[in-house]
Amino acid sequence: MGLTDITTRIAKAAKDADRDPSHITLIAVSKVQPNERVEAILKEDHRSFGENRVQEAAGKWPAFREAYDGVDLHLIGPLQSNKARQAFELFDVIHTLDRPKLANTFARLAQEMGHCPPLFIQVNTGEEPQKAGIDPADTDAFVQECRALDLPIHGLMCIPPVDETPSLHFALLHKLANRNGLSQLSMGMSDDFEQAIAFGATHIRVGSALFGERVPPAE
Ligand SMILES: *Cc1c(COP(=O)(O)O)cnc(C)c1O
Repeated sequence: MGLTDITTRIAKAAKDADRDPSHITLIAVSKVQPNERVEAILKEDHRSFGENRVQEAAGKWPAFREAYDGVDLHLIGPLQSNKARQAFELFDVIHTLDRPKLANTFARLAQEMGHCPPLFIQVNTGEEPQKAGIDPADTDAFVQECRALDLPIHGLMCIPPVDETPSLHFALLHKLANRNGLSQLSMGMSDDFEQAIAFGATHIRVGSALFGERVPPAE
């Protein structure tokens, strides 16, 4: 698959759902991909990318930003509080606000640094014990809490359980976002982004379908 194929599939899924494809951001998930592959996509004029580790992003994105204007970098992996400052410096958008402690850290940093990137709250839609995120039942209260801290909450994000129908999770995330007045939804990956678009995704996170299998393989 290449960028053109993915873009075509996005356009088709948007059309089927009666949606404007320009309202859907393709985040090219470049984690663990060799720099040549990332650069190839940059050369095709794509600018939105996702990384799941602060350290890895710090190693490759400052140079890419020097070479290419308008890079839009999204953090899509779990964030330790002690790396929050670095994440604020490196990323344009953070998709993984997943706990109250991190919200407090963000609020403090926002004060101190005078800016805060747009944020998505990660919801653990499958209520999986090993997975990060706010439980669906706690989401309304957490959105309130973040707003009270003046954090720029733009939307919700989820990673559905691998063994369940993703659509159920996309529908749940959509509903939670709607009732909290949030318009952006970060959901859908290589295997299910078309379904995510049908349920209102505004940000899809696509790695392997775009770049090929990750080397070394994903965890
Ligand atoms: C790796 C990753 C993706 C991309 O996964 P693919 O299946 O390769 O498209 C999307 N979202 C998150 C949070 C990821 O960690």
